[in-house]
Amino acid sequence: MIRVQPRASVALMEGYHSPQLDVEVRLNTNESPVPPPPGFTEAVAKAASEVAWHRYPDRACTELRARIGELHGVGPEQVFVANGSNEVLQTLSLTYGGPGRSVAVFEPTYALHAHIARLTGTDVAEGERAEDFSLDLAEVRRVLGEARPAITYLCSPNNPTGMVETRATVEEVLTLAPGLLVVDEAYGQFAPWSALELVDEDTPLVVTQTFSKTWSMAAARLGYLVGPSWVVAELEKVVLPYHLDAFKQAAGIAAVGFRREMEQRVAQLNEERGRLESALSDLPCDVWPSGANFVLFRPRTVEGGDVWRQLVDRSILVRNCSSWPRLDGCLRVTVGTRDEDDRLLAALGEILR
Ligand SMILES: *Cc1c(COP(=O)(O)O)cnc(C)c1O
Repeated sequence: MIRVQPRASVALMEGYHSPQLDVEVRLNTNESPVPPPPGFTEAVAKAASEVAWHRYPDRACTELRARIGELHGVGPEQVFVANGSNEVLQTLSLTYGGPGRSVAVFEPTYALHAHIARLTGTDVAEGERAEDFSLDLAEVRRVLGEARPAITYLCSPNNPTGMVETRATVEEVLTLAPGLLVVDEAYGQFAPWSALELVDEDTPLVVTQTFSKTWSMAAARLGYLVGPSWVVAELEKVVLPYHLDAFKQAAGIAAVGFRREMEQRVAQLNEERGRLESALSDLPCDVWPSGANFVLFRPRTVEGGDVWRQLVDRSILVRNCSSWPRLDGCLRVTVGTRDEDDRLLAALGEILR
């Protein structure tokens, strides 16, 4: 049998992995620990019964974009929607990246920024963050000056560190970036400020957000960006026709009606994050300050990968970053319910003592 080979860059790739084990306490993928409110599920059931299933959906996603725009005080022409913010990132890369172009990322950060760039034939210029994982502006200046990237990625709060970029930092990077600045705010609602306030028609800045984390809708795969209308118009040319199905558009419209409930869940999770951070700090662990719904920590008395396995033995799953570059021995834990976090903390207490 002859196997047909994909192009070399794909053949050499490892793909993106996030192991899913069958455990009782799942704190590894930064989902919401609780579902959306019951009223949402009812609204979605009603919407499903009203979909014209024999017709293609509204290709422009007009109402959904208008409703998301209202959340952020912009018109629909400044909103692009897709199947998860990962598809938003892919569309950005297809539109502004490609052969002969590059993107800049500052590691450690969200692995998919570089991964999606490579899949679209775009070069990746990797900069290093400072020792404490904060952004090093001298390094940003160096990398952007050398690579002249078409896209510069920031992630705030940054996955996997949880750290938030300040407004001053984002403004400084804007002055340095020769192309488009993309601020990935998958966890934006958990943070004290949002780069959305810097978006306008004359600034080459887009901010991506998602329904997966704060809206308790990871199953739906819905994400978006807010940016200048001239960026949105280019993205619309690139994305597949009818990429967002009618049912998902309806689910997104229904979700936006439960904004207050979303904000309440975010406030509760932020409070619980504070409790988790301080309890982790009381254990023999280094803990990074988080503005997201997860916390990065490094156990000091037992090697991180070993801690991860002992947690799995106790039916608790966290993200094992211990062998990732620059994250030696680190683990990332999603803020769960109080009960889930108590189980994690009790287990860590046993393992680290
Ligand atoms: C989870 C995550 C995403 C992906 O979100 P989807 O909308 O589910 O595709 C994007 N960026 C970062 C930093 C994330 O952590």
